[in-house]
Amino acid sequence: MKFFSTRDKNRIVDFKRAIFDGLAPDGGLYLPVDYPNMRELFEGFVERAKSIDNHVEFYREIVKEVSLRILTPEVSDEQVKRIANLSVSFSPEVRAIGDRTYLLELFHGPTCAFKDFGASFLASSMEVLLSDEGRRAVILVATSGDTGSAVARAFYGRKNIDVVILYPSGRVSYLQEKQLTTLGKNIVALEVKGTFDDCQRLVKEAFMDRELSEAINLTSANSINLGRLLPQAYYYIFGYAMFLADGWGEKSKDLSVTFCVPSGNFGNLTAGILSWKWGLPVKRFIAATNINDVVPEYLESGIFSPRVSVKTLSNAMDVGNPSNFERLKVIFGDSVVKMRELLLGEAVSDRETLSGIREVYDTSGLLIDPHTAVGYVATKRYIASGNEDMVIILSTAHPGKFSDTVERATGVIPELPPTLKEVLSQEKRSVIIEPDISSLKSFLLKHF
Ligand SMILES: *Cc1c(COP(=O)(O)O)cnc(C)c1O
Repeated sequence: MKFFSTRDKNRIVDFKRAIFDGLAPDGGLYLPVDYPNMRELFEGFVERAKSIDNHVEFYREIVKEVSLRILTPEVSDEQVKRIANLSVSFSPEVRAIGDRTYLLELFHGPTCAFKDFGASFLASSMEVLLSDEGRRAVILVATSGDTGSAVARAFYGRKNIDVVILYPSGRVSYLQEKQLTTLGKNIVALEVKGTFDDCQRLVKEAFMDRELSEAINLTSANSINLGRLLPQAYYYIFGYAMFLADGWGEKSKDLSVTFCVPSGNFGNLTAGILSWKWGLPVKRFIAATNINDVVPEYLESGIFSPRVSVKTLSNAMDVGNPSNFERLKVIFGDSVVKMRELLLGEAVSDRETLSGIREVYDTSGLLIDPHTAVGYVATKRYIASGNEDMVIILSTAHPGKFSDTVERATGVIPELPPTLKEVLSQEKRSVIIEPDISSLKSFLLKHF
């Protein structure tokens, strides 16, 4: 399978090129050139799901089988199998929370948010492809806190890859800083005396620097990377198979489901649409946002007006100009009418988010995080307006990561998951640099 840039359909590259590019040279994002129909394969997964007891093994099977149909022949069968084996060490889980509402829990990975899935697949792909060529790469990441830790954890201990993370000194939370600075081995944390914008600027300048790019094979691991997008399609397939296999689907009329996706940059939702393109029986996707609602607004009015984001309780979704909108537009041929046939937008306020958390706790005893709560409120609204389908809500983070908000809503303090508790006791190691390119450059040239 080959991939093309959203800005030029004649710019066609293979998987390896796409993941090491990140962004296409013309500024576009990569998408598959076509979509093999995998309906039969998916039906097979439903059958297999009826008798499995090891969820991680089953998920690995899905990742392997689907990747074999997407990545070959440019990536060999043998390489695809190694990538699948290396990338899967945790799985999603499906849980019923109401009569027709289910959660697809995506927070059982090392940093307890769904970004672990994409980061782990990208890391495994890069590790296998670099090792087989005997090459090395250095990944540069700027982070404002949370997203960097998923990348750091996913690349930790990988062969042939080093990771350099830039974060703004004194501007990330205590837990986030611990997550970024306690790993060691092939992960280096640079504490920049400046803001997140400085960190981003330094990374951009480093990529444009001729001397650096001649000395070091620099690459990125942004959330727009195709190697993070593709694997996010896989858990929709897992969710569907587990849902039907558990007999839940019998209540559904036509064996199709609706997914509700709490969205910011819309990578998660775009990945869901890929699974639908491959033949997953999806009735509809609910695009749930907080009040940063440019996409629901577009679905309503047909006008896309990106703007500066507003701070909310579901802060990983505070995005005013979602990067994957460019992919969505291309997938739907720039037609809002076509997009409306599959996507429904719902915007949710902070007040509703808090009452959503409280309501789930009151009715099922379960604590959910504010991002998942945005999905829950959107789903309640969808069902209340007379829709009769079954809805699977993507649960994007562990409630323990957002304990202040969860406590405010319920009076209960959620436990921090063990993997996160562990890092708190470890020692911080970082290198402090000035917010200028010469400091970053001299560090990189000395270190690598
Ligand atoms: C990143 C993130 C989102 C938003 O996902 P997108 O792919 O950017 O739409 C939602 N919830 C959590 C917890 C996240 O970390």
